[in-house]
Amino acid sequence: MKKSEVLGRWTVDKSIDLYGIKNWGADYFSVNEKGEVVVTPFGKNSNVHISLLDVVSGLKERGLEMPVLLRFENILDSQISYLNESFRRAIKANNYRGKYRGVYPIKVNQQQQVLEEITRFGKRYHHGLEVGSKAELIAALSVFDDDDACLICNGYKDEEFISLGLYAVKMGFRCFFVIETPSELELIMKQSEIIGVKPNIGVRIKLSSKAGGHWTESGGDRSIFGLNTAQIIEVVDSLKKCGMLDCLQLLHYHLGSQVPNIRDIRMAVVEASRIYAELVKEGCKMGYLDLGGGLAVDYDGSKTNFTNSRNYSIDEYCADVIEQVMSVMDDAEIEHPIIVTESGRATVAYYSVLLFNVLDVTNFEPGEIPEAPPADCHELIENLYDVMNSLKLKNLQECYNDALYYRDEVREFFKHGRISLRERSFAENIFWGIINKIADEKNRLKHVPPDLDGIDSAIADIYYCNFSLFQSVPDSWAIDQLFPIMPIHRLTEMPTRDAVLADITCDCDGKIDSFIGLHDIEKTLPLHELKNGDEYFLSTFLLGAYQETLGDLHNLFGDTNVASIHVYENGDYDFVREIEGDSVADVLSYVEYVPKSMVEQFRKTAEKAIRHGKITVAERKEIMNAYETGLRGYTYFEK
Ligand SMILES: *Cc1c(COP(=O)(O)O)cnc(C)c1O
Repeated sequence: MKKSEVLGRWTVDKSIDLYGIKNWGADYFSVNEKGEVVVTPFGKNSNVHISLLDVVSGLKERGLEMPVLLRFENILDSQISYLNESFRRAIKANNYRGKYRGVYPIKVNQQQQVLEEITRFGKRYHHGLEVGSKAELIAALSVFDDDDACLICNGYKDEEFISLGLYAVKMGFRCFFVIETPSELELIMKQSEIIGVKPNIGVRIKLSSKAGGHWTESGGDRSIFGLNTAQIIEVVDSLKKCGMLDCLQLLHYHLGSQVPNIRDIRMAVVEASRIYAELVKEGCKMGYLDLGGGLAVDYDGSKTNFTNSRNYSIDEYCADVIEQVMSVMDDAEIEHPIIVTESGRATVAYYSVLLFNVLDVTNFEPGEIPEAPPADCHELIENLYDVMNSLKLKNLQECYNDALYYRDEVREFFKHGRISLRERSFAENIFWGIINKIADEKNRLKHVPPDLDGIDSAIADIYYCNFSLFQSVPDSWAIDQLFPIMPIHRLTEMPTRDAVLADITCDCDGKIDSFIGLHDIEKTLPLHELKNGDEYFLSTFLLGAYQETLGDLHNLFGDTNVASIHVYENGDYDFVREIEGDSVADVLSYVEYVPKSMVEQFRKTAEKAIRHGKITVAERKEIMNAYETGLRGYTYFEK
């Protein structure tokens, strides 16, 4: 749908407001005076800006095709610093006598590069890792080398898992086993006796406090993980019996991810602190209070307690945690514990950006409509003409109803063979003409009738984009999560089209049709008209958390190309790592094909075609070449 022109010149500032980049960009993303999205890894006050359009040209020169997932190392570095410095300030301001030791939960983004960077950047803060499975523990041990950082083991643990953790303790690491179910304790005790090292034990508790938000089923009495109070007492008694109360050192809970309301966070901290204090009174050694994850990301930039937002800043989160813990401990006259948090989403969300190009556009504007109905045309077509010609501001709703009615009648007639395809096509063209006119006119109404509300999305353009929603933005499909999306260039021009996005999976679910708006969720995204032949690039932001591993191979679109960027203080930047995405052969082998035998099989088919005189030997060579090139190629649309 084309927007009516507005008075006055379009400016970059108008684009900034329209796409809300200041609201969700957390000072890492902005727009330069050329109208290009820039990354500002050192914050808005530094004059280092990296234009994403420049990055696109750099990638092209290196032969990396769209779509490309960009990772900005510096942003990861900044977020880890931000979290740790924030806790440091809160600790200092309150004279809290314990420390903060953050851990990064690997499941949020397990890519090797991410782990390596987190341990490198986190070293100065002794930022540790949290694992939830054997594979994650094995991954963690390959990069972990800080005696002062915590290595927290959650999840179900078998003998192998426990032995590995105990060896880590033997090697001097602060590795904790968090007991999630009562039966785990026995296995841990048995293994520790065999290996001859005392375990560091934590307990995960079910809080009665429950948080709002999308992912917060982890809290509350029915949460599948954690011990209830009776089970905690059982654990304490078992440990007491064998004189090992000094092994119980950590209390853990996890409310769920993306907790939008600070009130829920505070209530949980208070309840957990009370339990911690009681465990100290029971004679447990304790020392660590682990508040889990939940620190939310403001995806829509609204700063509210909506699911995709949060009504607090990181600074407020840290200050509240410290104050609440301190107040409970002081009341109970107990030493201030080391505070651990397992913030994953907030640590990595900003780090990754998906760049993709637009391949094509469909619009729902009518073609040429003749002034008057053709002589001897069908009566229904004449009726549609009458509707079109009588359309005024005051009868919009009526015209809308009539247009729908006649359109449906036309379809009915067509089904019964009483209208030809050509006539039906003519009628539908007029129908779209009417709908577009209504959409235009309705903006002049003070109160838009509810029926006409959805009309904008009905006539929105469809922009076909070169990416797979299922591979790159799975939460948009699975749980309707909102992510910021916008063009990365042409922001000095007014976007005149309203659009929804379709990916290239040809699955009707492979679309994005809710977007971050100024005041609410919008059903369409303002975009620029494609200029003949010019490339048009969009970006989805804040994809660093959860999206990479949750992504799947729907329609056999594989991993995208990945490029990692390191920005220097002077504004230069390097592509420190380029990882080619999956080839067609790669994704086929994931679903049990053997590319080598596929080529062999196809060669036989081609040979048969020669025998039957369908192709020549020279053609066979060409065909085999195309097949093998296809196997080696990228799964996405290549130019
Ligand atoms: C998933 C998970 C986290 C991470 O939560 P975020 O909200 O992403 O910070 C932390 N701890 C545990 C136990 C988890 O399961």
